Amino acid sequence: MDSSLVRKIEKAKDYALQPERIKFAQCKATFKGNNDDHEISYEAGTWRCSCHYFSGHNTCSHIMAMQIILEGMVTGERPVTA
Ligand SMILES: [Zn+2]
Repeated sequence: MDSSLVRKIEKAKDYALQPERIKFAQCKATFKGNNDDHEISYEAGTWRCSCHYFSGHNTCSHIMAMQIILEGMVTGERPVTA
């Protein structure tokens, strides 16, 4: 294998251990809930979810889970840990 490619792979493995280097500007995802799939989006610090609970509360367990998973990679409120 090309030695420069080997160095890139090593660097990628090192980067992968430092998620704090990554800041999401936006993302979209399908979240497989217990009862249904939900469409989640994140843009400029704002989360949205297609689930019924979100429409009345502006947050939900799906978004809370994403905040925990992406902690440090998105701006906005800290994950709810209580
Ligand atoms: Zn939700």
